[in-house]
Amino acid sequence: TNSPPKCRSSSIHEIKTNKSTNPLKTAMSNPHTIDSELLQKLVHDALVWSSLHGLVVGDRSVERSGSVPGVGMVHAPIALLPNSFPEVQWNQACELAPVFNELVDRVSLDGNFLQDTLSRTKKVDAFTSRLLDIHSRMLQIGKKEDIRLGLHRSDYMLDEKTNLLLQIELNTISCSFSGLSCLVSELHRSLLSQYKKPLGLDSQKVPINTSASKFAEVLAKAWTEYSNPSAVVMVVVQPGERNIPELINTHNVTSIRKTLAEIDAQGKILSDGTLQVDGETVAVIYFRAGYAPTDYPSESEWKARLLMEESSAIKCPSISYHLTGTKKVQQELAKPNVLERFLENKDDIAKLRGCFAGLWSLDDSDAVKNAIQQPGAYVMKPQREGGGNNIYGDFVKETLLRLQKEGSEEEAAYILMQRIFPTVFPTVLVRDGICYKEHAVSELGIFSAYLRNKETVLSNEQCGYLMRTKVSSSNEGGVAAGFAVLDSLYLT
Ligand code: ADP
Ligand code: MG
Ligand code: MG
Repeated sequence: TNSPPKCRSSSIHEIKTNKSTNPLKTAMSNPHTIDSELLQKLVHDALVWSSLHGLVVGDRSVERSGSVPGVGMVHAPIALLPNSFPEVQWNQACELAPVFNELVDRVSLDGNFLQDTLSRTKKVDAFTSRLLDIHSRMLQIGKKEDIRLGLHRSDYMLDEKTNLLLQIELNTISCSFSGLSCLVSELHRSLLSQYKKPLGLDSQKVPINTSASKFAEVLAKAWTEYSNPSAVVMVVVQPGERNIPELINTHNVTSIRKTLAEIDAQGKILSDGTLQVDGETVAVIYFRAGYAPTDYPSESEWKARLLMEESSAIKCPSISYHLTGTKKVQQELAKPNVLERFLENKDDIAKLRGCFAGLWSLDDSDAVKNAIQQPGAYVMKPQREGGGNNIYGDFVKETLLRLQKEGSEEEAAYILMQRIFPTVFPTVLVRDGICYKEHAVSELGIFSAYLRNKETVLSNEQCGYLMRTKVSSSNEGGVAAGFAVLDSLYLT
């Protein structure tokens, strides 16, 4: 039978909202109040739209979904309606994008800064240490990257108490969901215009999201810059990658997908520095893997990473860009007078500093003391990517006390960060065909692209966004990992 999806309310308490005579306003401020018949229709249409437009992900419960394209797809976990977000902070986040791009580029050129900043981390973190080894090898041989390409995502939360837009982190490798996030914005625009009357919302208030097409466009531009018409773009993927990577083929550029192990087996560097993999000349390498220790199960993967770095192919990211995106570098850049080493423009520096949350090294004894006293006000972060690695709450205290007792160098593996508390809001989430009334918080990611050659900056722009909404009781926001969904925003 064709029974419509049912909505479950898993929230313990309802947030009281002002009784408004304007039903439109209510739908936005509290979607829990949408009447159930309308809600079922919205959910149904959202699921149909998702299936028709490819807002889908591989279904983990279907074994072959990881290996056979088009088999075992399920709609992506989504928020049914966009999440309201103040226009002022939205503009601020967009304006920050090109400035962060420029900063990454400048920092990446200062090899000693990267090595020095990460020198203590290197001793205790085997993964970061391997990355640094590749980096110092490049410094030794005087390797220059004349064409530099960055596809970044800077993540923010809106701190409720101060109403400040604060940066969570800057990702310089494998910025995922750029393909799906623009589909969610389209879905929301489509629902808002289709249900304009009952919802009373304006679909134009959902900003156009160009993340997938912009990333593809800049990748193609980089390919052009390499100027070898027979070369390809190589996407480095994890074995059994479930997220479908952006299609680059729209720009008449051929792309191939390879795992690190395949690159080791099939790759070589010609005498002029050209990278060939499986007989194809590689112009651009786009990493969708290689950011986590588990991506390097054997020496073979590390050999592949080194081989690529030594080649003349354009890397997205280069090892320098990758290291610039570490949390330790983020913390170092937040120290007084460090930004000034890399940027001249005072307004730009002020803009960046305005979005920095409190960040501390663990050799800052005052910060550690405070964090032990008030662990809930801090997050402890190791040098890892991909979510699920941070330490919160009483575990912050426990871990800090243990490190103090042991007097070990392990403390250098972590940074401390001010915990940001975004506003909790009521929302309707849809996962696996079921909708849930929840209370949630959001994190806004701004995609950006940067491309330059020796002389000129060819691209430096904001490229769309990713809104992730997670149930407020969970600490981490990984869409793939936990109960977080893809969302978009509604400017207010
Ligand atoms: P990763 O590189 O693994 O994504 P993040 O720094 O983004 O690491 O942390 C993962 C998640 O933890 C974030 O998406 C966010 O939900 C949460 N988080 C990180 N830093 C903070 C913070 N300072 N305050 C509140 N939540 C945070
Ligand atoms: Mg990250
Ligand atoms: Mg993150």
